[in-house]
Amino acid sequence: MTTTDRAYLDWNATAPLRPQARAATLEALGAIGNPSSVHAEGREARGIVEQAREHVAGLVGAEPRHVVFTASGTEANMLALSPRTGGHWPRLLVSAIEHPSVRSQGRFAAVEEVAVTAAGVVDLADLGRRLAEGVPTFVSIMLANNETGVLQPIQEVARLVHEAGGLLHVDAVQAAGRIPCDINVLEADLLTVSGHKIGGPKGAGALVKRRPLDLHPLVTGGGQERGERAGTENVAAIAGFGAAAGAAGANLAAEGARMRGLRDRLEAGLRVATPDLIIFGADAQRLPNTALFGLDGLKAETAIIRFDLEGVAVSSGAACSSGKVQPSHVLKAMGVSPTLARSAVRVSLGPTTTEDDIERFLTAWITVSGPLLQKSRGMAA
Ligand code: PLP
Repeated sequence: MTTTDRAYLDWNATAPLRPQARAATLEALGAIGNPSSVHAEGREARGIVEQAREHVAGLVGAEPRHVVFTASGTEANMLALSPRTGGHWPRLLVSAIEHPSVRSQGRFAAVEEVAVTAAGVVDLADLGRRLAEGVPTFVSIMLANNETGVLQPIQEVARLVHEAGGLLHVDAVQAAGRIPCDINVLEADLLTVSGHKIGGPKGAGALVKRRPLDLHPLVTGGGQERGERAGTENVAAIAGFGAAAGAAGANLAAEGARMRGLRDRLEAGLRVATPDLIIFGADAQRLPNTALFGLDGLKAETAIIRFDLEGVAVSSGAACSSGKVQPSHVLKAMGVSPTLARSAVRVSLGPTTTEDDIERFLTAWITVSGPLLQKSRGMAA
């Protein structure tokens, strides 16, 4: 399907390939060797993987040897949350707004959730209270939420976690490549990045360490990735991931400022068209590219389909499980009513989003929200 006549505004779900990533991926598909082989063909493939490792490390201020490639951000999160059985960490604490891959608790026997405020920011007092209980704790808190875009106070979280002798993993899948994300500045012990959110191909992620730290591999077998993730590397996807990381890092400030301008225009337009609309997390610091909004009476599932028919790709804040649409756990944690949460629509922008895309979205919004609102408010003709 061609997307040129459509407005793609679902970059938090996945980003279109950056041209640099496409070129690097296609070129790497031509490398015939196995990166573990010692001959010239193997060394060529190894060179591609190592160059990509440098780019990914550079994006988050880490050392290349501390980057472990995985098949996804999900796998990197799982790897982080898989300390050795009977090991040092009896307790896992995560925020109430984490991605399902973190909420699934990895290999921990149980998980406890830290509350968030109505603005969608992790409640530091709750975190501090739980850490004060004196149990060695592994903590996983995201840098930017995928639904609201709300940024979490990771430096303060890191200080609390480290003062209590704990270890901190940060899921930076939505933040890396969109805002500065230096593992040393954040003081995260482990950090997750995903290639397809920054314009690389789908199916490549990385778990990054701030300093040497033994991981408990999920996938065992060969000694790839220093024994921490067995399996022949997906050289082409990793090459594209590296190229995307390089390009995103080089253009961070300019792309961020552009996206923020467009997002602000979009939110201003929405507010003018529908003054009782609520923008979730608007009082907190957010990613420059994300807007999540709700309107009483709107049904997000229907709205998404109507947007699609208007040529606009956006997503709903709700999750579909067992055939039933569940209101978002993120909005629930923020204290949003189930009815309002069911109306949540997420619009997420990227470096190639244009003013025309925003205008198209706003025009579609009038078409989409008008009849739906009339119907749900019992004013249908
Ligand atoms: N973490 C966050 C915050 C995400 O938004 C996502 C994807 O939506 C993931 C992790 C999972 O990344 P991947 O799609 O590479 O498995």
